[in-house]
Amino acid sequence: MSSEHTEVLVVGGGQAGIAMSEHLTRGGVPHIVVERDRVAERWRSWRWDSLVANGPAWHDRFPGMEFDIHPDAFAGKEQVADYLAEYARRFGAPIRTGVEVTSVRRNDGRPGFQVETSDGTIEARFVVAATGPFQTPIIPAVVPEDAGIHQLHSSAYHRPDQLPEGGVLVVGAGSSGVQIADELRACGRTVFLAVGPHDRPPRSYRDRDFCYWLGVLGKWDAATPAAGAEHVTIAVSGANGGRTVDFRRLAEDGITLLGRAGAYADGTMAFAPDLAANIAAGDANYLGLLREADAYVARTGIDLPEEPEAHILGADPECVTDPILSLDLAAAGITSIVWAVGFGADYSWLDADTFDERGRPLHQRGVSREPGVYFLGLPWQSRRGSSFIWGVWHDAKYLADQIAIQRGYLAYDEAHVLTKTGA
Ligand SMILES: Cc1cc2nc3c(=O)[nH]c(=O)nc-3n(C[C@H](O)[C@H](O)[C@H](O)COP(=O)(O)OP(=O)(O)OC[C@H]3O[C@@H](n4cnc5c(N)ncnc54)[C@H](O)[C@@H]3O)c2cc1C
Repeated sequence: MSSEHTEVLVVGGGQAGIAMSEHLTRGGVPHIVVERDRVAERWRSWRWDSLVANGPAWHDRFPGMEFDIHPDAFAGKEQVADYLAEYARRFGAPIRTGVEVTSVRRNDGRPGFQVETSDGTIEARFVVAATGPFQTPIIPAVVPEDAGIHQLHSSAYHRPDQLPEGGVLVVGAGSSGVQIADELRACGRTVFLAVGPHDRPPRSYRDRDFCYWLGVLGKWDAATPAAGAEHVTIAVSGANGGRTVDFRRLAEDGITLLGRAGAYADGTMAFAPDLAANIAAGDANYLGLLREADAYVARTGIDLPEEPEAHILGADPECVTDPILSLDLAAAGITSIVWAVGFGADYSWLDADTFDERGRPLHQRGVSREPGVYFLGLPWQSRRGSSFIWGVWHDAKYLADQIAIQRGYLAYDEAHVLTKTGA
């Protein structure tokens, strides 16, 4: 067991930890990154096998290095993990893998923290929690474990043949739920998809990817929604070369769309009568972006081909106009449920006075209320782009700057004390 000192201890060796390390390295700040698994582990083992990045390679990356694939292609999950590992290797990020942080406690009467890890104690002046925007898989307590239905979270789904034979109910129609439902249907499964509120930007429009449009229209930089405002999931996919998520197409392919999943009793699940409204709101989001893109083209005079057919939406399928509001799962042949409803946070290892009643970090752009503690990679940390590969890099830069400012005060204190005592 070892005990040592460092200036900054970064917890987590995903993209956030790597970005943080890069900016600290640039500033010459001594630091250690501690990762309990492998670098970018979540890209390797918490994602399904066929997952590709939601954004094209030219966009979903750090500024300092390109992917080794066509810029318009979508990197596979292993390529993303390899990219991040290589990126960290190139600047010599001081990452210790296979080491878990078990507790962080503020020192009594002196600056800094005592960090307990599975490999000994580390004393650090500053701590950056870079443990991810998506930490604890959420499976709502709706269907009892003994109901005879195989249930798993989207982060534990890897491939269709992992599920028992039979139909699948996918709950949640963000990027994960939609892609998993699509993959299962393509493999011949009977699939039901519970669709909540969502945004669904066009994959591409007028020869530009949606990542471009969100960028030039300032939407990646959209400010963090006010506390309490509901976050709306975004349904996009890079699968099969990248296609717009279109619920009409999914229904045409044989997926039965349902409203938001509700209560379960005696083998029957209820679904909210909100499917048509959710589809309509998603359509409005889609069409709104097309209109904003058109206005941008008109304003800037950029020469992009027109695409009037993108504005034409087909009729709503029968499952939308005449929705199923309750479903006997066994009678429908459903043997599995994939819950694609998101993740919670777990900062039980961090003893700091900076969490709300639900355990979520209280912070401003990642600067916590507990002096010396910082968060990185949170959803909407400073803007919409914060939890994405390219966005976290900019938040890390900001935090490195904040840490440098605080180090300046500490240095002043130290010099002042030395002068006063004549040491
Ligand atoms: C299905 C899916 C697809 C996505 N696709 C894209 C995409 O295409 N493009 C994009 O930009 N973003 C995408 N994202 C969003 C985001 O890029 C990823 O969630 C990414 O993994 C976040 O990186 P991170 O470093 O912030 O956190 P993570 O990757 O979650 O890394 C945190 C690390 O901290 C470690 N850790 C946690 N606790 C401890 C501890 N106590 N001690 C030591 N280590 C610890 C974990 O092992 C983990 O490796 C996707 C997310 C999901 C879920």
